[in-house]
Amino acid sequence: MSEKFKAYQIGKGDDGQRCQLLELDDSDLMDGDVTVRVEYTTLNYKDGLALTGRSPIIRKFPLIPGIDFSGEVTASGHADFKPGDKVILNGFGVGEDHNGGYAQKARVSGDWLVPVPDGLDTRRAMAIGTAGYTAMLSVLALEDHGLEPGDGDVLVTGASGGVGSIAVAVLGKLGHRVVATTGRMHEKDFLTGLGAAEVLDRAEFADKPRPLAKERWSGAIDVAGGNTLANILSQMRRASAVAACGLAESMNLPTTVAPFILRGVTLYGIDSVMAPLARRKLAWQRLASDLDGKLLDELSFDLDFEDLPRAAADILDGKIRGRAIVKLP
Ligand code: NDP
Repeated sequence: MSEKFKAYQIGKGDDGQRCQLLELDDSDLMDGDVTVRVEYTTLNYKDGLALTGRSPIIRKFPLIPGIDFSGEVTASGHADFKPGDKVILNGFGVGEDHNGGYAQKARVSGDWLVPVPDGLDTRRAMAIGTAGYTAMLSVLALEDHGLEPGDGDVLVTGASGGVGSIAVAVLGKLGHRVVATTGRMHEKDFLTGLGAAEVLDRAEFADKPRPLAKERWSGAIDVAGGNTLANILSQMRRASAVAACGLAESMNLPTTVAPFILRGVTLYGIDSVMAPLARRKLAWQRLASDLDGKLLDELSFDLDFEDLPRAAADILDGKIRGRAIVKLP
């Protein structure tokens, strides 16, 4: 008989979806060739949407939520992994249509796993989580475009949130002049401590944009979408690029073609879920080398496993600062 393990499970009834903390066993796990004892998970914006049901993130019921986790391999039929290996999982539909990280045990495809790189451990990996990894994918996109330290101001929106705070810390350590926007100006000292040279109120980016405005940014990472992203596009310097990864403000993008055809601006879309394995490994290695461990500790905090459902609403309401680390009981 298989050992029982604790897990959140989201079910669906006539009155909508319902999240419960249950004792499950191996028969509740899904197909996969690697079994992992989950050590840490976290809370991302998408987890907030999934747990509250505010967006249809979960596509299969019942399902264990949690779009990422780190832990130790306990059984493997995959050539690249053996018991004892420390691994990270994020994306590939985990926590959406495959059982996710809000459980003491996970069974997944070994093709989805990344070894914890030297310089990180399972705890710090989840301090980073999908949000931090998405920040690094965004930095990589700007670097591939040719952005270098010294090129000029780089804008990061939603800077007090998960993606934003790690983007600020990484860009700052790499030597860029980072301008952070936030709706929480009382967090200004926190953001300058992470590496922002300047902090702007996000209200400056909230109005309906003009097609083109004064050129200000050599690069930008945007988590907001909506008017914010449209305003940023209109303020980009000639031939520069924006990495768009989120929709914290809106799914819409009320822009014109002017920034693209008159200033040669490039808009990169960042998809963390299906990024190829080589790109994932590069992003995690760069996080191990280019994110200051002390800053990571400062921008992360411990969240109890039992508090996940309550904190889910907080992250959607912009009340979570930085990154939550959830240790499995
Ligand atoms: P967080 O909630 O931690 O951060 C989002 C931040 O956005 C908030 O903290 C707030 O920062 C800012 N914000 C909130 N509402 C608005 C608004 N109306 N206008 C402008 N800014 C706003 O979430 P994450 O960092 O985990 O995720 C950020 C976004 O990125 C989400 O939309 C998420 O879905 C997306 N994402 C996408 C991924 C991908 O693969 N493309 C992967 C991971 C995340 P402040 O208070 O500082 O302004």
